[in-house]
Amino acid sequence: MASLGAKDYNFLFKVIIIGDTHVGKSNVLLRFSEDTFQDSFQPTIGVDFKIKSLNFENTPIKLQLWDTAGQERFRNITNSYYKGAHGIILVYDITNHLSFQNLDIWLEEVEKHGATNLTKILIGNKNDLEELRQVEKKEAEKKAEEIGMPFLETSAKEGTNVEKVFLYVIKEIKEKMEKGLLEKKEKGSKITGELKQGLRLDTKGNIKNKDDCKC
Ligand code: GDP
Ligand code: MG
Repeated sequence: MASLGAKDYNFLFKVIIIGDTHVGKSNVLLRFSEDTFQDSFQPTIGVDFKIKSLNFENTPIKLQLWDTAGQERFRNITNSYYKGAHGIILVYDITNHLSFQNLDIWLEEVEKHGATNLTKILIGNKNDLEELRQVEKKEAEKKAEEIGMPFLETSAKEGTNVEKVFLYVIKEIKEKMEKGLLEKKEKGSKITGELKQGLRLDTKGNIKNKDDCKC
């Protein structure tokens, strides 16, 4: 997965990360975008997003990775966070059963604010802390099946499965785009309009309206 220069992208994908506070969301993003980890808890301040450019199956892709800004404590993440998102990573902490129980609340939020055809994945983070485990893998697999989401356990600390999560998300979004599933007009969905406009970047990295595009 080679990194790209600043301007050569075909696609812009917006991916957001949600879940209870302290489950490791910021560190999962940090591991993927910068291959680092922060031991001390630093609540994210302000709305934060990271940009990661990469080559996926010979296609230059620019990822906009949105992180919550501490407001997830009260689960009142605003509509604008979800708006235009193509992918959602839903995180719980395997050492905190409450963060797993709260998944239902997060799923309600996704239902309320998320677009149709969103790519979703469930991750159980901190799986390097086996001795503190409160959520059995089997329990989570059952849940994932119930809610129809793929599932992986990760460790942002050790890097386990983190890249796999993002590669899955990118692959799914790309396939949906190529099949035109994210561009279909759906009644009552403001989000699809946003997606449609936000999808393409020109070779200089500027967002292009799909309608102007001869592709
Ligand atoms: P957020 O509130 O969901 O964004 O969580 P953070 O990413 O800020 O992480 C909260 C705390 O958990 C920090 O002290 C991190 O160092 C720690 N943490 C995050 N991911 C892992 C992990 O995979 N393993 C371990 N052992 N600690 C983690
Ligand atoms: Mg955070």
